[in-house]
Amino acid sequence: MLPENGRSADELLAEITRLRRDDLQVRGGKVTAYVYDTGRAEVHDAAARAYAEMLEVNTLDPTAFPSVVTMEKQVVGAVAELLGGGPGTPGIFTSGGTESIMLAVKAARDIRAGGGRAGAAPSEGRPDGGRQDAGRPEIVVPVTAHPAFHKAAHYLGLDVVAVPVDAGTFRADPAALAAAITPATVLVVASAPSYPQGVIDPVAEIAAAAAARGVPCHVDACVGGWLLPWLSEAGAAVPPFDLSVPGVTSISCDLHKYGYTPKGASVVLFADPALRRAAYFASGAWPGYTIINSTVQSSKSAGPLGGAWATLNALGRDGYLDLAKNTLAATRRLIDGIGEIPGLRVLGEPESSLVAFTGDAEVDVFVLSDEARKLGWFLQPQLSYAGIPANLHITVTGVTLAGVDAMLEVIAASAGAAREKGPALVPEGLPEILASLDLDALDDATFTELAASVGVDLGGSGQPEMAVVNTVLDALPAATREAILIRFLSVLYA
Ligand SMILES: *Cc1c(COP(=O)(O)O)cnc(C)c1O
Repeated sequence: MLPENGRSADELLAEITRLRRDDLQVRGGKVTAYVYDTGRAEVHDAAARAYAEMLEVNTLDPTAFPSVVTMEKQVVGAVAELLGGGPGTPGIFTSGGTESIMLAVKAARDIRAGGGRAGAAPSEGRPDGGRQDAGRPEIVVPVTAHPAFHKAAHYLGLDVVAVPVDAGTFRADPAALAAAITPATVLVVASAPSYPQGVIDPVAEIAAAAAARGVPCHVDACVGGWLLPWLSEAGAAVPPFDLSVPGVTSISCDLHKYGYTPKGASVVLFADPALRRAAYFASGAWPGYTIINSTVQSSKSAGPLGGAWATLNALGRDGYLDLAKNTLAATRRLIDGIGEIPGLRVLGEPESSLVAFTGDAEVDVFVLSDEARKLGWFLQPQLSYAGIPANLHITVTGVTLAGVDAMLEVIAASAGAAREKGPALVPEGLPEILASLDLDALDDATFTELAASVGVDLGGSGQPEMAVVNTVLDALPAATREAILIRFLSVLYA
């Protein structure tokens, strides 16, 4: 791809515009996942300029770039102030929810293993207080907890104990979580809210149960942390969920969601400085420069920090409160409107701004999603899991209110079209064949053929009908879904 001679910036930007032709739109509210739009272009522009200004700064060495320390303290301080902490609350600015969760899990693991000795030096040995006979460390999570906890456990060498949620409300069950705690448990998790149905787990009860057993409790407020306090101020009923709740030892809050900042921005807060030290990593075990990292990444751009800092300041309290009022109004309108569409039903009682709805036997939600896509709207499919039916997920943002009636019209029209079309038809026996295959032994060509049999042209461009794919995946156990997704990604990038 590398050209013989360098190309001009104008030419390159024109090419990027062409490359993005088939992308979903990042602004305008027709894409109800992945992107968070305020509807105020000037705010996103301010963020982009600040991002560019900090782009080439490397946060690897905060003593070389003190602007990083000042900005990070201000951003972390703003989150602490909103989430039950104070000016001295220890926190870390990270690249996203996954990294915030990774660090919270590492901190919980290492504080148990001996006071947060986080260094790499092999000769120093590692004390193992407390967990000596407990075996491999475990984290206890509700099944609705984000996969980032499974990822953290996978990377950090822990086991996940996933506990069913209440079948009617989709909220975590504090008694069931408490019953799952063993001497190996290093962390208990609650979500505020959980992503799939947008409901808030009973944080106070879960944290109390964990504290009674001497186990730390992390609140995953990745999506809700920078929204729930403003929703509460705007009049919504929000139960206590933050660091002010006894027993909560850490909390994650993504700024690149309801903080509306450019991607690459999240904060994890700790109740105790020792816990933050257990999240840090230092290494003196090589002859090169000194390694002292607060995050998983080492060299990284300060662009996201600059973008986050600028967005918080460009919107201010007024801005966020205003966006929350719009978000609340749009969410209520959406919940009522979906309830009036024949064949559709909202799952649980959404308590934030995330709305999931399912269809009856006549309205296949995966077909509905494809129909909406043809009309220029993206509604996010969620597969059935742990007794929760397949559904579509909408993330309501500040910009949604302006288009909520149009969105409801699209959902109603797409539901009508899905009813007429009937459920997606899966090639007979395909799920059974897939479930029985050793996917690791399959070559890429055979996998590509299998994909073609459900209408997915892995070599082509454009938008495949996803309903059949989703229906096939939906019929498979989670482990097979995972194997297929990994193979899909590997072929996509072949
Ligand atoms: C988005 C999200 C995460 C993960 O965040 P990323 O920024 O995508 O890494 C974790 N938990 C919840 C509840 C989320 O909504």
